Amino acid sequence: MSHAAQPSASLFINGLPVEGQGAALAVHYPYSGAVIAHLREAAATQVADACAAAACAQPAWAALRPVERGRVLIRAAAIIRERAEELARLETLDTGKPIQETRVADWPSGADALEYFGGLAPTVTGQTIPLGGDFVYTIREALGVCAGIGAWNYPSQIACWKAAPALAMGNAMVFKPSEETPLGALKLAQILTEAGLPPGIFNVVQGRGAVGAALVADPHVAKVSLTGSVATGQKVYAAAAQGMRHVTMELGGKSPLIIFDDAALEDAVGAAILANFYSSGQICSNGTRVYVQRGILTAFLGRLSARLSGVRMGDPLDEATQHGPVVSPAQAERIRAAIARGQAEGARLICGGPGEGAFVPPTVFADATDGMWIAREEIFGPVMTVLGFDDESEVVARANATPYGLAAGVFTRDLARGHRMAAALQAGTTWINAYNLTPVEAPFGGVKLSGIGRENSAAAIEHYSRLKSVYIGMGGVDAPY
Ligand code: NDP
Repeated sequence: MSHAAQPSASLFINGLPVEGQGAALAVHYPYSGAVIAHLREAAATQVADACAAAACAQPAWAALRPVERGRVLIRAAAIIRERAEELARLETLDTGKPIQETRVADWPSGADALEYFGGLAPTVTGQTIPLGGDFVYTIREALGVCAGIGAWNYPSQIACWKAAPALAMGNAMVFKPSEETPLGALKLAQILTEAGLPPGIFNVVQGRGAVGAALVADPHVAKVSLTGSVATGQKVYAAAAQGMRHVTMELGGKSPLIIFDDAALEDAVGAAILANFYSSGQICSNGTRVYVQRGILTAFLGRLSARLSGVRMGDPLDEATQHGPVVSPAQAERIRAAIARGQAEGARLICGGPGEGAFVPPTVFADATDGMWIAREEIFGPVMTVLGFDDESEVVARANATPYGLAAGVFTRDLARGHRMAAALQAGTTWINAYNLTPVEAPFGGVKLSGIGRENSAAAIEHYSRLKSVYIGMGGVDAPY
């Protein structure tokens, strides 16, 4: 079967596919390296056109009844579910992630977001604040044009997670996917249009960082939502500050997964596998520092090695494949450098290793210490670092000794301890006896360098709207002179 995935044009502006006028952008299938699409970046004038089209279309969209806006999003969710197989395949070609993942995680989670925020739109109301005669009422207003900028690991999910609350609240969006994975956002634009979205409300521009920077600086843009690395987040946050734009920053992490002696061992091993190797380890919230209490450390490492020895690597389009390539040769090289660094630092490699080509196998370092580079820095690949610990207060202090704070996990059968840990850990999300589950119903986002703002849940509404107060004077005006 052909792997060609050429879209009708590179960009989507004002309801129509438009060819980019910037530099060429070849899209590769990470498994084979084959070029599956030839795109062009947006020229600076096209970024401006997309933002102007969004600004022009947005007031009429915001003026619709919220239930009408919601209906479009819910219809888009239904279309995504009808085309689930075609979309999963496209996501696999774009990212290299196994089809057994993209069938259940990527577009399905995007559809959930469209459905959730479509349903939520009509429930968003203001407050009435009594003042003993006079009163104030509040209106939750759209911000205007929102810029969305995505990472390459969950391209379609990220586009949906940003578009759904933005559009539900009456905003328009201009979205720039990662240059590595540009195809899913174009599909989303097409699907939203089929679902009845007016032209100009969801636009897609392609390009590298400079195109993202142009988008953030466009005078029409009122809000920027970025999913990416901390370094990019710092640049984008600073650029957004120039225009006092609202921001949501979903950035990286080095999250702890803490396994106590009393944990259900097989569940804890399973969670550590999911927390490090799903999507070939390219997940922001991964629990890459696995703290294991010393009483079960040997048993844990034994079961982990045994279970990893059965991993099936191969063509991600093969249903049996469990572990695919990473997104690009450059990313594979960065991960290999991190593995070499772990070995040079004296951590014990017990599984995996550098691999070859685009593949890096599930890799585990034991006997690591907190000061090692591999235990401090985000690798964004399938590399787990296992560290021993003795007691609860020690592990809390060590887990929190990081500038990041995206997520944390705790495995224990002691309920009180689980809740104590959740309270003590500095993280936007803490899972107890679970890991990496991010249902649309729950807020998701980071603390410390891992970001600001929340995606998903009703909390996201606040990040795509602003409050207006309307004061009603019910009596006369008493002026002093
Ligand atoms: P990057 O930070 O490199 O890029 C993120 C996006 O920003 C890309 O679309 C990129 O374009 C764009 N960009 C780069 N420079 C600028 C700029 N100056 N102004 C505006 N936009 C810019 O991240 P990756 O794509 O490499 O993704 C990996 C990172 O994302 C990891 O650190 C990971 O932890 C984080 N991440 C966080 C998530 C979360 O929810 N917290 C979820 C997923 C990933 P281009 O790539 O085309 O250069």
